[in-house]
Amino acid sequence: MTVTEHIKLAKDTLISFEILPPLKGKGIGAIYDHLDPLMEFKPSFINVTYHRSETMFKKKPDGRFEKIDVRKRPGTVAICAAIMNHYRVDAVPHLICGGFSKNETEDALIDLNFLGVDNVLVLRGDAPRNETFFDPEPDGHAYAIELLKQVVNMNNGIYLEEDLKGALKTKFCIGVAGYPEKHFEAPNMPADLNYLKAKVDAGAEYIITQMFFDNQKYLAFVQKCRDIGINIPIIPGLKPITAKKQLTVIPRTFYVDIPAELADEVVKCKTDDEVAAVGTEWMIAQSRELKKFGVPVLHYYTLGKASVIANVVKAI
Ligand SMILES: Cc1cc2nc3c(=O)[nH]c(=O)nc-3n(C[C@H](O)[C@H](O)[C@H](O)COP(=O)(O)OP(=O)(O)OC[C@H]3O[C@@H](n4cnc5c(N)ncnc54)[C@H](O)[C@@H]3O)c2cc1C
Repeated sequence: MTVTEHIKLAKDTLISFEILPPLKGKGIGAIYDHLDPLMEFKPSFINVTYHRSETMFKKKPDGRFEKIDVRKRPGTVAICAAIMNHYRVDAVPHLICGGFSKNETEDALIDLNFLGVDNVLVLRGDAPRNETFFDPEPDGHAYAIELLKQVVNMNNGIYLEEDLKGALKTKFCIGVAGYPEKHFEAPNMPADLNYLKAKVDAGAEYIITQMFFDNQKYLAFVQKCRDIGINIPIIPGLKPITAKKQLTVIPRTFYVDIPAELADEVVKCKTDDEVAAVGTEWMIAQSRELKKFGVPVLHYYTLGKASVIANVVKAI
């Protein structure tokens, strides 16, 4: 089923989770160990992130450095298939522009279609860790909207090979990312919202937001979206704070604010267990309030913290 079908049929706020593929060398058991404790909450869908390769420099015995490309977390497509078979739950693979040519994207979409995956979340991706700016592949996409249009084309039976006859239409339900506190590269909020609106006009069917810790920011974002005619579901993305160092890492990595009230409580903690307790309480309060607002889905970034997420979902 598609994400939007789940939302249409829902009588209450739904739950969904987002997971990372395990580090290279680990088996699918790592995913099952992570998800097993969360399955009692009957997630409607599970997102699986995509991680592009990173360029690293390895010192050779002669002292010179060798440049190597390393993908630390491969396996998104296969993990989606495994989740769907093992748990009978819909999986949503993330697809990114970075590191992909249009042909490679088409091949990935063909694989997903063969596997019976109905959903994709299309994203641009970030620049590799040691580069400042996002550079598309020579034959790749520069923005998420271009990738989205490629998926829409396939949904209309239009593949890259122009003289393909009688090509089947895929049926992907397409989600995109939205940023309640603005994407860090956008010059201003109205410009970012206009690009988001363009993704919606091009065929996006729902939005999942970047994490936020202040519900007022999400509500203001939803209102701004509605004001410019974005009427699709806007799913809040949520992540509990579980370690003190996240007070600096989260703003630096995701360009979001941590409210003073939460930050002050975290600073007082002596251990990360205490931080996780504070983060859990905050996330429970945030989730309850969002549920009261009638959000379609509470989408949790689980990021290896299944027990914390389980405590949050149990409490709401
Ligand atoms: C829910 C969620 C899931 C994510 N999952 C992943 C993942 O699995 N893997 C991963 O690598 N990253 C992931 N990301 C991170 C994401 O890839 C980055 O935030 C990236 O920098 C932007 O992606 P986007 O799809 O929002 O890009 P876009 O929509 O392409 O926007 C990127 C920037 O360009 C601007 N822009 C858009 N269109 C145009 C245009 N036509 N001309 C000029 N400017 C334009 C926007 O305002 C924005 O500032 C995720 C983010 C979210 C919120």
